Formats: sequence, structure tokens, C-alpha cells
Amino acid sequence: MIVGLTGGIGSGKTTVANIFAKFDNVAIYNADAEAKKLMNTSPILKSKIIDEFGAASYVDNQLNRPYIANLVFKDKSKLEALNAIVHPEVKNHFQEFVNQQHHKDYIVYENAILFESKSNLKCDIIITVYAPLDVRVKRTMLRDNSSKIAVENRIKNQWLEDKKLLQSNYIIDNLDTEKTQIQVIKIHNILTEKSH
Ligand code: ATP
Repeated sequence: MIVGLTGGIGSGKTTVANIFAKFDNVAIYNADAEAKKLMNTSPILKSKIIDEFGAASYVDNQLNRPYIANLVFKDKSKLEALNAIVHPEVKNHFQEFVNQQHHKDYIVYENAILFESKSNLKCDIIITVYAPLDVRVKRTMLRDNSSKIAVENRIKNQWLEDKKLLQSNYIIDNLDTEKTQIQVIKIHNILTEKSH
């Protein structure tokens, strides 16, 4: 069973995924983290990115993140081009991961752009982590040491929260960490039951 875990920037997806990770019968896949790894390790991805964005995309064989970020966050078509290169590779990589997880009851697939990338279609269940916009902006500024405007620009490229919440099976309100834990445990018990 594949459980999509999504939510806006700074909503607390990784925080929630870390709570799910404590259960032995659950496997976790973080699409964003795996995409970042694959951009440095996959020869196919590297050559496609260089073809699209130029040789400056890599420095010392590592993705030149500031260079790419600067290009894609100013130009939506460049972001779409990058996503069109990266997403199919991540999807393949995730499928290989799924094939190796038969012993687990369910897999939590964390993806900030689950709906935007149509990955929701691969999920049996969808959980959206929710926190109000101002809280998310403050958390992200603090975590990434970035400006308000930089965080807001990233948010602009994502769907509005309402649209995600309406298509979710479960919504986790992530304001108070203890209450978040309780919600995760309840959902985990239901999902474990469902998977049997
Ligand atoms: P992104 O989409 O940018 O990867 P995310 O949704 O995965 O973000 P997290 O990285 O889990 O969000 O959380 C963002 C920041 O907010 C982190 O620094 C985290 O420690 C903090 N945070 C998460 N949940 C809470 C909470 N309930 N109370 C206080 N701080 C929190």
C-alpha cells in the first residue's frame, strides 16, 4: 500500500515522516531528498540537465544548486523543463524501492508536489500535513535561513492548500508537536489494519 504524504513548504512533512519512520512495518521514501541525490549520482540525469541548462549546472561533479535555483524560480518554463527531466527518474527509482519493500505493511511516499506531479495517482491513500501560511513561512525562513520573499516565491509554484486538502484521505494539523504525534499514531493504526 502506498501512502502519499504531502503539504506545502514548511508544513512539516519531514517531521511527520520521521514519526511514521519509528514504526517497524513502515518504509519511508522522501521524493525530494532522493531527487537531490539522483541529480548528483545518475549519469542520465546529469547529461540531460547539462543539455538543458548548460555546463555551469555542475561544479566538481556536484549539482550547482544556486545556479539552477536562480534559473528555475525566475522562469516557470525552466522549472517545468527541470521537473520533466527529474520526475521520470525519481518515479523509476521509487518503483524500484517499492519492489524491495514487500515485507512492509505500507510505504510513506513524501512529496511536496504530490498532486502537481500527478504522483497522487500512484497512491492508495493521501495524507496532507497542514499548517497556516504565516507559520509555514516563518518555519521555513528559520530552517533555511532564507528571506520571506524567497520562501513566498517557492510557495507560488505549489498548489493552494485547499485544493490538496479536498483530495486527501487524512489531514494532519501540525501546530503542536504532541498533537501531531497522536494524529500520526491514530492514522498508523488505521493504515496497518487496512493493509492486512
Ligand atoms: P519542505 O517542504 O520545505 O521540505 P516540510 O513540510 O518537510 O518542508 P519540515 O522540514 O518537517 O517541513 O518542517 C519545517 C520546519 O518547521 C523545520 O525546521 C521543523 O523542525 C519545524 N517544525 C515542523 N513541525 C513543527 C511543529 N509542530 N512545531 C514547531 N516547529 C515545527
